[in-house]
Amino acid sequence: MGNIEVGGEYRVARPFVVLGELVFKAGDRVTVEKIDPNPERPANRYVVLSERVNKRFQLSEQDLLPCGPPARTVACPICAEPNDPLVRHCVKCGALLP
Ligand SMILES: [Zn+2]
Repeated sequence: MGNIEVGGEYRVARPFVVLGELVFKAGDRVTVEKIDPNPERPANRYVVLSERVNKRFQLSEQDLLPCGPPARTVACPICAEPNDPLVRHCVKCGALLP
């Protein structure tokens, strides 16, 4: 894949389990916060935040996939969860979507 940019949005290519804790699922969206050269593992220089555990991890280019254009979503009127436009009910709270 092409250049990975700071501030760019990507999808995580594979699940990551760190110390028994799932920190990324395949397909999780992440934003590259900075590029931090890692002397021990030079490929793992892209710093991203795992919202699951609220910690930052360094991934490699192979671990990141392009997001493509932002997916269209419908915000839930109750909880503001972004939902796929094809679903009728909010995946989070079950409210009927507009
Ligand atoms: Zn909702």
